[in-house]
Amino acid sequence: MQLLDGKQLSLQIKEEAKVEVAKLKKEGITPGLAVILVGDDPASHIYVRMKESSCEEVGIYSIIHKMPDDISEEKILETIAMMNKNPNIDGILVQLPLPPHISEERVLAMIDPQKDVDGFHPCNVGKLSLGLDAFAPCTPLGVMTLLDAYEIDLKGLDACVVGASNIVGKPMMNLILNAFATVDICHIHTKDLKSHTKRADILFVGVGKINLITEDMVKEGAIVIDIGINKNSEGKIVGDVDFEAVAPKCSYITPVPGGVGPMTISTLIQNTIKAAKQREHQC
Ligand code: NAD
Repeated sequence: MQLLDGKQLSLQIKEEAKVEVAKLKKEGITPGLAVILVGDDPASHIYVRMKESSCEEVGIYSIIHKMPDDISEEKILETIAMMNKNPNIDGILVQLPLPPHISEERVLAMIDPQKDVDGFHPCNVGKLSLGLDAFAPCTPLGVMTLLDAYEIDLKGLDACVVGASNIVGKPMMNLILNAFATVDICHIHTKDLKSHTKRADILFVGVGKINLITEDMVKEGAIVIDIGINKNSEGKIVGDVDFEAVAPKCSYITPVPGGVGPMTISTLIQNTIKAAKQREHQC
């Protein structure tokens, strides 16, 4: 069994990003990221702080628009419109979740697709499903980068994705289908989860339930990608897979923490650099 070390790879990606950003700065382009953070959700604040410090580390300019919980949707839309027009901003992301009175759909659709570094705009979602060049969501795209670094070829593999959200499961499904895996996707209403997971040469799990995937649900020699992030009763961060029992059966497995998590932020950095490089093509 080999661990897929996202922590190490993300450090390497950040080093490469520093070089790329320095090169862009010489050409007069400082990549810029604007983050919209609404409300006081502690996890969201931690994620945004991590994104901010990673940007700083590699030389990307970042600005955080903090807004109170009771902000109007109109005000958020106005801020996005302003950032869409700002020539110093290449990437815009809205930290989710948003308070219930705000339409996530309208807010995400307001972002200029060319600045949509989170890949949540319907235009990028559509392009991704068509197999066209697009901004893909950072977590599943980070998983693809991790697999690529370990030279894991998905072509022809039987894959199972557990979890079908718009930010994790569905884009993961599209990315691996584009890489020619045969894809099975499961969700809360799937009848017999084990019958799907057990067949998989490669299993992706992004649900948010501790120990959802047990040893008997995994095929001998499978590759297991645990995208889940949960806090257990001892306050430790764990994934969705019963790591201790499942790992010995796997050819490769991601640890939690240190697997997929760090790849998400390094992919955001890569997407922001990609957007900055496309600056001259923007209208
Ligand atoms: P979500 O709640 O939006 O979606 C969960 C999905 O799991 C849904 O499709 C639901 O139908 C499915 N599901 C729920 N219970 C199930 C069950 N018993 N069997 C099969 N499917 C079931 O969650 P999300 O935003 O997609 O996040 C999923 C997990 O990934 C969470 O743990 C989250 O913290 C984690 N996450 C990690 C990163 C990262 O950087 N590693 C990024 C985003 C999300």
